Order: sequence, then structure tokens, then C-alpha cells
Amino acid sequence: MKLKHPNFEPPADANDRRAIPPVICYPPETVPQPDLAALTDLRQRAVKTAEVIAAPRDAACIEVPAGAFIRVVSVDGAQVGDLNMWYKHDLTERFYSGKTRALHGTHLSTGDRMWSSFPNMRPMATIVTDTLDWYGFDSYGGSVHDVIGTRCDPYTGRLLSGDDYHYCCHSNLTRALASHCGLPLHEAEMHVHDVLNVFMCTGFTQDTGQYFMKASPVRPGDYLEFYAEIDLIVGLSACPGGDCSSEHSSDAAACYPLVMEAYDPGEDIRNAHIQPKRSAYDRTHGAG
Ligand SMILES: [Zn+2]
Repeated sequence: MKLKHPNFEPPADANDRRAIPPVICYPPETVPQPDLAALTDLRQRAVKTAEVIAAPRDAACIEVPAGAFIRVVSVDGAQVGDLNMWYKHDLTERFYSGKTRALHGTHLSTGDRMWSSFPNMRPMATIVTDTLDWYGFDSYGGSVHDVIGTRCDPYTGRLLSGDDYHYCCHSNLTRALASHCGLPLHEAEMHVHDVLNVFMCTGFTQDTGQYFMKASPVRPGDYLEFYAEIDLIVGLSACPGGDCSSEHSSDAAACYPLVMEAYDPGEDIRNAHIQPKRSAYDRTHGAG
């Protein structure tokens, strides 16, 4: 194991301390489970009602009502997407990748929920189909659809290279949300948040714990599908990294579009859907 800061001698019982087995923070049985069989049945009755294209190095937004489905599809070539999600009626309620990671692990797949930010903390969407669920974890510790990255952005690019690049996912999502909601650019930017990295293959190196990416296993025709638990605006950026096999934050990689499709089971069925309630915590925070 490589030590980042080897300034201190290990104590005599260092190996004993390291040998203590880990405890799962949130065992799966403690998290409410979706009824996937019912959702699969519902999906059979849904018909396609809308489609938007996230062009290469650009983003698009789509609205999906509670009780409908949204599918993110790979077309033309291997491509990863950075996905944001907002409650349509209040943009401050947005996807919380960190808490979703704590509850479901570093990479999401079928049956996992996408949780919203505090003080709401309710499922915004449930993943119902993942054609890459066969991938699992590879020998490097990599897997697909992570909630460990953030999104490529011009601020980190500026920090590391000194250059300004305007077509990172952060900027793409900012432009798309501004245009979709009629917001000023800088106001929209404040609503852009850490993403679900759709189709991206990532992990942490086992010796140094560094964030890595590798060529995505996605191929045209693959898709990830969600059930909208509440009324959503979904933003998707076709990452300038393409399949993220080498670099992002530049025009160097081959880049392809991604498609978002909405599927509606019908208004009556949607209206019968019981939307998850916001957290019942009273928010007094011990202040009385
Ligand atoms: Zn990106």
C-alpha cells in the first residue's frame, strides 16, 4: 500500500487495527425497496411520447411526469453521459449523488433509487432497466454508472491546465437548464450538481485510491431506464470525453450523441401513482 503521508511510524498494533473487518454503513435491507415486478408490468403498457437528443459536447433537458419512464440510449458510438435531475416545481430539490452513493454504493443499477437533496430526501427516480448490468466489477475495481465522480467542469480544467474549455458537462448542463427554464446563465449554473455518470466506467485504484476511468463498455443500443417517482426535469450532457478512454475536458475524443426518451403508461395510471413524501424529519435540529 502506498502511503500518501508517511510522516508517522505505525503503532505496534497497526496490523491488528487494519485487520478489523468493515461494516456496511447502510445494509440493503435497511433501505426501502421498490416493487420492480410492478414497475416492469407498468412499463409494458407505456408508449413513447417524447425524445430529445443531447448532441456531442452539448446537453439537453426533458420533462417527465411522475409515473412515467425515461430511457437514456446510446446511439452511433460509445459515449458517456452526465445526468442531472431536478424536481420540476422546485429546482432546489435535486439529485443527491453523495447520499445515493452512501445508500446504494459507488455504481448504480436496476432497483437502485436516485435520492433528492436535503431537506427533502425522497426517491426522485428508480432504475428499472440497465442493459450493462452484466458488467459487474472488473479486475481493476471498475464498474459503470457511477455516483463517485462529479462532472467535468471548466474550473478544474482551469486549475489543472490553465486553459478555459467551455464544453465540459458542467457548462453544457448549465446552458441546457438555462434554455429549458428561461433562467439567466449564472442562475442556472447554481442548480447544476454532481451527476450520475451514465455508461461511464470508473473506480478507485486499489493501491492509491485514485479516481480512474476507462473505456466504457457501452455500445449503440444500450440503455438505462428510470421510473419517475416525482415530476422531473432531467438534464443530460454528452461528455466531451466520449467513451472516456483517454481524456475529457477537450475536443480530442471522438464524441457521439445520446438520446433521452420518455414513455408514458397513460394519465390514469400515472395519476394512481403515489409520489414519495418528503422526509418527515421536523428540521428543529435540536434547537427546540
Ligand atoms: Zn463530462
